[in-house]
Amino acid sequence: MDRTRDSHLLEVENLSRSFNVRRGLSSTPFLAVDGANFAMPAERHEILTVAGESGSGKTTLARMILGLIKPTDGRLAFRGREVTRLNAAERRIWFRREVQPIFQDPFAAFNPLRRIETYLYETALNFQIAKRANVDEPVDSALAAVGLSLKEVKGRYPSELSGGQLQRISIARALITRPSLLVADEPVSMLDASLRMSVVNLFRTLKEQQSLIYITHDLATAYYASDRVAIMLRGWIVELGPVEKVLGNPLHPYTQLLKNSVLEPDPANKVQTKVVLSASDTEDYFRTGCKFAGRCPRVMDVCRRVVPKDVFVDGRTVKCHLYGN
Ligand code: SF4
Repeated sequence: MDRTRDSHLLEVENLSRSFNVRRGLSSTPFLAVDGANFAMPAERHEILTVAGESGSGKTTLARMILGLIKPTDGRLAFRGREVTRLNAAERRIWFRREVQPIFQDPFAAFNPLRRIETYLYETALNFQIAKRANVDEPVDSALAAVGLSLKEVKGRYPSELSGGQLQRISIARALITRPSLLVADEPVSMLDASLRMSVVNLFRTLKEQQSLIYITHDLATAYYASDRVAIMLRGWIVELGPVEKVLGNPLHPYTQLLKNSVLEPDPANKVQTKVVLSASDTEDYFRTGCKFAGRCPRVMDVCRRVVPKDVFVDGRTVKCHLYGN
């Protein structure tokens, strides 16, 4: 990894987060994120997708990057500054202005009894983006970036807007602070198939102004939207690299399985994107050696004993004993 900190927007080094789970009569710590490593450049914008099954650790990783939960191990730095060492004021104003979330459910993000513009004004005022007298300007400009205007939404309640419009407004709210990084956790999963691509297209437009981490289980939109993709499995990043390499020609057996599990197009949905694999197996987290050994079609003896290292092969990082020996 390049250690020139000024060249990085975000650095994630051996980042881990453990939680306790009940196993029989006792509780055992398990690593929801286990030694994640990647960096995002400061000198150019990119969309980095983090993809995996539910329970793979991608939301925990997103919440750490947003500063909502603390890592139990490793280093997380934004523009060279360790996030866990920021004081309260730096965290509240500087960091939260710079790194903004976009959440999954646009319907849950807004109180049905409050007019939409109150959320937008509050964000601009709380983050000291404008004084009350001038607050329309940054709000209107953020709405313009998502194809809306203050005139269109002012005075309206959430129930008067579609899911797609509400998700655009929640994205506009995130843009008011002019962040350098957006972290979007399953931002299209609550939308109809027809609206998904319009939001994903919007991300590609927004990339002109900032970078984006896109968390999803949806490989089709990941393929379409991303510059790079990280595949997560049981807390590990098992393959990370340019999207055309990782999803075009996957090397890790799990990525291969994930890609093959995307069903054929469903005429009702136009694009069927849901990844269908077996249900989460908690035992995978506690497995010695490779966490995929219980399901891997290419498992070897060494896989059951030794944790695979991250190796760089064919333009991407792969965590698998099949490579690098
Ligand atoms: Fe399969 Fe072994 Fe590679 Fe794990 S390390 S993915 S079990 S081949």
